[in-house]
Amino acid sequence: MFRQLPPVPDHPTLEEEILSWWEERRIFDRLRERNHGGPVWSFIDGPVTANKTLGVHTAWGRTLKDVFQRYKALRGFDQRYQNGFDCQGLWIEVGVERELGLNSKRDIEEYGLAEFARKCREKVAWSAQELIRGSKRLGQWMDWGNDYYTFSDTNISYIWRFLKLVHERGWLYRGHRSTEWCPRCGTSISAHELVGSYEERIDPSLFVRFPLIDRPGQSLTIWTTTPWTLPANVAAAVHPDEEYGLQENGEWVAVKRYPDETYVERRRGADLVGWRYDGPFDHLPAAKGIAHRVISWDEVTMDEGTGIVHIAPGCGTEDFELSRVHDLPIVMPVDEAGRFYDRFGWLHGLSTSESAEQIVADLAERGRLVAAAEYTHRYPFCWRCNTPLIFRIADDWFISVDDVRPRLLAANATVEWTPAYFGKRMDDWLRNMGDWNISRRRYFGLPLPIYPCGCGHVTVVGSRAELKELATAGMDQLVELHRPWIDAVEIRCPACETEGVQRIPEIGDVWLDAGIVPFSTLGWQNPQWVEGGYGTGAANELTGADLPDHEYWQSWFPAHWVSEMREQIRLWFYSQLFMSVCLVDKAPFRSVLGYEKMLDEHGRPMHGSWGNLIPAEEAFARMGADVMRWQYCDQPPDRDLLFGYGPAHEIKRKLLTLWNSVGFLVRYANIEGFRPTVSDLAPGPVGVELRPLDRWILERTKKLVTDATAALEEQLTHRLIAAFESFVDDLSNWYIRRSRRRFYGYDDAAFRALWFALVTGLRVIAPVMPFLADHLWRNLVADPCAEAPDSIFLAGWPELGEPDERLLAEIAEVRRIVELGREARSTAGVKLRQPLRRVYVRGARLAREHAQEIAEELRVDEVGFDQGPVAQVRLLPNLRVLGPRLGRKVPEIKAALERGEVEELGGGRLRVAGEELEAEEVIRGERVEISGWTIAYNETVSVALDTEIDAELELRGQVYELIHTVNTMRKDAGLELTDRIVLTLPDRGDVLGHKDWIKAETLATRIEVGEALAITKA
Ligand SMILES: [Zn+2]
Ligand SMILES: [Zn+2]
Repeated sequence: MFRQLPPVPDHPTLEEEILSWWEERRIFDRLRERNHGGPVWSFIDGPVTANKTLGVHTAWGRTLKDVFQRYKALRGFDQRYQNGFDCQGLWIEVGVERELGLNSKRDIEEYGLAEFARKCREKVAWSAQELIRGSKRLGQWMDWGNDYYTFSDTNISYIWRFLKLVHERGWLYRGHRSTEWCPRCGTSISAHELVGSYEERIDPSLFVRFPLIDRPGQSLTIWTTTPWTLPANVAAAVHPDEEYGLQENGEWVAVKRYPDETYVERRRGADLVGWRYDGPFDHLPAAKGIAHRVISWDEVTMDEGTGIVHIAPGCGTEDFELSRVHDLPIVMPVDEAGRFYDRFGWLHGLSTSESAEQIVADLAERGRLVAAAEYTHRYPFCWRCNTPLIFRIADDWFISVDDVRPRLLAANATVEWTPAYFGKRMDDWLRNMGDWNISRRRYFGLPLPIYPCGCGHVTVVGSRAELKELATAGMDQLVELHRPWIDAVEIRCPACETEGVQRIPEIGDVWLDAGIVPFSTLGWQNPQWVEGGYGTGAANELTGADLPDHEYWQSWFPAHWVSEMREQIRLWFYSQLFMSVCLVDKAPFRSVLGYEKMLDEHGRPMHGSWGNLIPAEEAFARMGADVMRWQYCDQPPDRDLLFGYGPAHEIKRKLLTLWNSVGFLVRYANIEGFRPTVSDLAPGPVGVELRPLDRWILERTKKLVTDATAALEEQLTHRLIAAFESFVDDLSNWYIRRSRRRFYGYDDAAFRALWFALVTGLRVIAPVMPFLADHLWRNLVADPCAEAPDSIFLAGWPELGEPDERLLAEIAEVRRIVELGREARSTAGVKLRQPLRRVYVRGARLAREHAQEIAEELRVDEVGFDQGPVAQVRLLPNLRVLGPRLGRKVPEIKAALERGEVEELGGGRLRVAGEELEAEEVIRGERVEISGWTIAYNETVSVALDTEIDAELELRGQVYELIHTVNTMRKDAGLELTDRIVLTLPDRGDVLGHKDWIKAETLATRIEVGEALAITKA
């Protein structure tokens, strides 16, 4: 006996049950044991930042990872299942700062770096447990407990080794340059961190006068949206080839910008070069001794402003570059926290935004302001704390990329990207990216192992062992490779033997932490396997992961597959590729599945403060993990996912078709005593006489397996879902619908075919919906068949061979005709229960053998092929093309087209009124129907139904209605499907003429004539 199914599945309850059953039966362990020693499939998990609980965004990626790992496991591949956590750097710091109520670097330093590091580690440990809990609930199978943590000393040492190598090749350098800077975080922001960080912002728009020293009464007018940069002005740039003009009010501007003004003098920009002017804040100490002058710059745009550009090399990248070309002084107005230095007088201590209003007022007071307004533009914000960024000059450490760029491009060319345009984006990024800024002025992160000595020698330490060798102090209290402990370690300079050389205080870009993972977790160049050896330093006791040996690395590197969202192209995919190419000149992954963004179901970004963020816990409870996973997998990766309860509801509705089909099998199998045999799973039922429809559903099932396999091999889960949905539709709305009566008695072939089809369907959808699949597998297979694997995941992937495409195409065509026929009926407003005389089908080559089924489904007496009326396509001349060519003959052609007097010449070409017309010279308009018929069609098939209803047809229609009503009454009366009844009918001779038919369809033992329609149990 199968367990009866409730009317709808209770996903969350069923999932919790399966979770504990998996645990109890050690299903995942057994799966791994089973695949151990099999072919290797290497997946490397991109580390999730351990500073939060599981969100529905993260659950998306985790689902895809799980789907493909489960699929590969079903196919017998040996896998590692190592999960990873990103544990240090600004993300973690910002969260901890917030919790501790700290809001500046000074606050952190006062709090104490050792205690701060401990808090950061605590946060990671807490979050890791939360993420593991949430991921398990999602159904993700990973080697939990053996996760990698990027803040382990092991991971850090591997990065040190990478940096040492980069230094040996001469690519590591310290750069003095202008960079985007977050004043709150007090650190520079690297180019790959800026992507996607631009938002609309309103800034002041100022026109400011710079009086010319040698031309009294005249001044340059410049335009700026960043008032705080004005005190750092040193030059004004003009385009050498553009024309500038002096207005009557004494102001110089570009003529092109104000073409309607009157100019008293006009000059080429080149003539203005060298003119001296009074700076806007010359009275402040910081501006002392600065000779402001006009310079020439080809990049001056005539699209906005005045055509004269204010240049402050301390506050902008291009300005900074210009200072090198023109030997301009550099004035740095603000400190690391974005506040004015004391040499800026009354501005001292003000932030860039606080100063704006006062600067405007001051300029106005001194008669320097021409105009002030507001300006909306795209402006970069810090991606971690959302503070508007500024430009600062900073000394940062860089890895120069030019030498390695061609090799990166070559390595990327070996990678198979899905969607393909992601690979193109990576290519673009690799071609255009600047040097990699790897240093951050922060606390809890990768300590950069850079020790510059006064003699000029820079030591880059490649490992902890090497550090110990060189150390002259501090090693004894080095608890882990983090600040403040690492800062206490001093070394001896190998070049000059000077002792007490200190590490630079900077920490590293987090993408170094994640990029090294294909080396640090797989034991690259590690001579000996160390059990439990990965979890060192801050990761100590958080993980039991081993540090494998080099041989292991060789068998698992490069990864067969990685998968993350699109932004990771410039982040994790990039840093991994970069480090891997530097270390071994090879891409670290062979294929990548990327995906776009997640938005809410209305297409808005999800934000905690907008109230549209769905916590994963809530989604588990309200939609269930299977439904979430379905939603993620149904998404083409090249489009944004609109996630929410609306789509979840729709999915649940669709899943009911599957559920009801299983319910149907279970109900009648229990009534009829059907017992399945596990050997039917492959290759399907044998040794029983199959009917054509059974043969079809077996082929249809093979087709599902072929399609599903292809979809998963192409990494396109939405195609798997589409294949499954269409299969369930065929199974339910054709196979079961047309075989229903066979299940009312014991028909071995029907039961076995249906069982096989349903169970095989579950097997291919199992990676997407592991809970529902195993739940139903247990009911349909494991419980009734003693020799069957207890979990669907221990049953392997179905292999059934190639389907009979011809048979499938035939039935697909029949189904299309029936659909079109129903559509035609509904257009004409004729009920499905009303029999009709005839249907004519055109353009269906394969369906001829199935006239009987078509007649039954469409309730018609006669089916004819390639006869009867066709929907006429209205043809019109394409005047735009034909007009110029045939001129006055066009009206004649138009008339002939309207009368349908055309001769087809093939390829869409027509002969009309003696002219040969090309396909594009004729517009194919709407179709015109013929009276007395209703017609529906698609590109190839048209179906015409005769809508005339005579008295005989009408009577049969009434009988069908009656049968339907009686059967509804049976259901309402709570009768079993097999119960017999006595039917009472009002005296209507015409209907009573069909007594036997009515009795058979309603299971009536006899019909009595009475007052009103009634039934009683016989
Ligand atoms: Zn910030
Ligand atoms: Zn030295």
